[in-house]
Amino acid sequence: MYELHGTIAVITLNNPPVNSLSAALRQHIAAAVRQAELDPAVTGLVLIGHTKAFSAGADVTEFGTPLQLAEPMLGQLLAHIEACPKPVVAALSGVALGGGLELALACHGRVALETARLGLPEINLGLIPGAGGTQRLPRLAGLSTALAMIQSGAPQTGKQLAESGLLDQVVAEDLLPAALQRAAELARLGAPFPQARERSLDPVLVQKFVSEQQDKLTPRQRLQSAYTAQLEALSAAASDWPEGLRRERELFLQLQSSSQSQALRYQFFAEREAGKLPVVWQAEPRAVHTVAIIGAGTMGAGIAICALNAGLRVILLEQDDAALQRGQQRVTEHYQSRVQAGKMKATVAAAAEARLVPSTDWTQLVQADLVIEAVFEDLAVKQEVFKKIDAHARPGAVLATNTSYLDVDAIAHMTQRPADVLGLHFFSPANVMKLLEVVRGTHTAADVLATGMALGKTLKKLPVLTGNAFGFIGNRIYNAYRKQCEFMLEDGAWPEEVDSALQAFGLAMGPFAVADLSGLDIAWRMRKAQAASRDPRERYVAILDQLCEQGRLGRKTGAGYYSYSAGRQVKTTDAVVRDIITQASTQRGITRHTLTATDIQRRALLAMVNDAALLLAEGVASRASDIDVVLAQGYGFPRWEGGPVFWARQQDRAALEQDLHTMAAQSGHGFKVADLSVLLD
Ligand code: NAD
Repeated sequence: MYELHGTIAVITLNNPPVNSLSAALRQHIAAAVRQAELDPAVTGLVLIGHTKAFSAGADVTEFGTPLQLAEPMLGQLLAHIEACPKPVVAALSGVALGGGLELALACHGRVALETARLGLPEINLGLIPGAGGTQRLPRLAGLSTALAMIQSGAPQTGKQLAESGLLDQVVAEDLLPAALQRAAELARLGAPFPQARERSLDPVLVQKFVSEQQDKLTPRQRLQSAYTAQLEALSAAASDWPEGLRRERELFLQLQSSSQSQALRYQFFAEREAGKLPVVWQAEPRAVHTVAIIGAGTMGAGIAICALNAGLRVILLEQDDAALQRGQQRVTEHYQSRVQAGKMKATVAAAAEARLVPSTDWTQLVQADLVIEAVFEDLAVKQEVFKKIDAHARPGAVLATNTSYLDVDAIAHMTQRPADVLGLHFFSPANVMKLLEVVRGTHTAADVLATGMALGKTLKKLPVLTGNAFGFIGNRIYNAYRKQCEFMLEDGAWPEEVDSALQAFGLAMGPFAVADLSGLDIAWRMRKAQAASRDPRERYVAILDQLCEQGRLGRKTGAGYYSYSAGRQVKTTDAVVRDIITQASTQRGITRHTLTATDIQRRALLAMVNDAALLLAEGVASRASDIDVVLAQGYGFPRWEGGPVFWARQQDRAALEQDLHTMAAQSGHGFKVADLSVLLD
């Protein structure tokens, strides 16, 4: 939209919903700028969006499709604006992200609302800004702010950036008048108008900054080429302008065709897809305003926080006053720390806490639209609790269990309404982790599933549908993986070799460090419970049991697979563990041999891939990509590797199948070999 306000031409971007910079929008902006240039009555220009967005940048759905050749490309448009003989001011409201922020950076002035959110999220797709963002931003806002924005990908508000040098002015309201005023002011001052490119950075300071930041990259960042490329692009900002732009473009194109960026884009779409129920299960969700949570332990309190943050009313129910008080304390401490850290306004925290109804009175349940049970992981306890829920919840309420492994049907059958029951498997810490497995029991009604998915979105989670099988999607694959890692201990690897090989692949932590962190006793208890039903011919690694028998339950006892020096979180392996492992090898008649990092990675990944194929064939997962979302969101699988399924699809198929058969032989009786074609065809 083009209109004159006095002598200032106002160009309003209007490409709903978020003004993504499609080829058509770029053409319209270029045409409008040209019109203003040619009109002798016009002295300046303002580019403005709407309340939701100045512009959210490139249209991600255009990614991966053949390069849009429609000119102007974003870089050309920005060069045009920068060279405009009349001053151009960007008026920023809503979001200005990626190419949208780069557009603003090329203008001669920028005015933003305090609430505007400015960011360069390209890193989330394994990219760097590719239209001058890495060159203009450090010139305007300095190296530290520029790197912080480019590295985190997280948007900052106009208010936060008020002093950064990026914005000429930040206003609470009346954005357009402020932008008009700024354009008139620049016009009055006359050419040359301020341009980021005219500023230069001291090459010595840039090099010092870049090399310091290189040293600060975390091991996981070092595995991702985009983090190094960001620093290289910033380093090029010390060069002359065309060289800096050329280098940025070159790096951008390299990243765009890299498998890491492809994997991250795949994850982006897989996450969107995961939130949609397959057609057969689509239904109108039931309304949820009040949630009751039973059990205010680690998970119950975390789930309560999520629900309160989402504006829901929460009834928190415990078995006695002492447990209730502990649970309530968890919630209170959370809000106190958020407020103290300046991350939440005291009024917002108070309003959230005011929606909490702590109670030990089961009759309160009648008010709930949805009940989430989060008591101990014990079938008998959960079954008793569900009988009580059935007695007190109103007809039509959705009843959910947060079980990690137990059979949702066995729980649902304790009620007179199994169609209303489903699993909602949150991950710990429940107020942080985004993954939510929505478990479909045999009798779960479609609208109950739809309610679970909708609740996930209300809570800002990533809900993924799963069938009711032991461990659902995530824990089941994780168990297969952990089991294979235990086999590797017996075959010849040490815990630190397995852990470091998998960390080198990109996993957040190796399986033995994870086990120590969460406590070995959880798995020990489960193993004991399953002992009677275990096939004696199955390969069973007893190392964990022996560690537990010696009181080595993990970090909390100072020792597990590793020993931890008091006060410090330093871990080492010790002779006791090595003895236990060596004896286990001997008992199985194995001559220990070296496993290389590549051997370890491949076996661990293949174990995941095999189980992924099995559970897809069984219908536990409804899409292969859902499995990748679960592993990346819940289990620290590197998103830039796409997930086990994506990884498998990058491998040579014949070699993969061959290795799978070798692994089956190594894994002994009971190892079920999957037909990988469900994943690979
Ligand atoms: P927790 O021991 O911290 O909390 C359980 C709470 O339930 C306790 O406060 C207890 O007082 C309460 N409770 C027990 N019986 C009750 C009853 N009859 N009525 C009311 N309250 C009762 O356990 P948690 O770690 O929060 O786990 C809860 C559930 O969440 C389990 O099913 C677990 O498998 C699952 N889960 C846990 C994690 C995790 O990492 N901790 C992750 C995902 C799922």
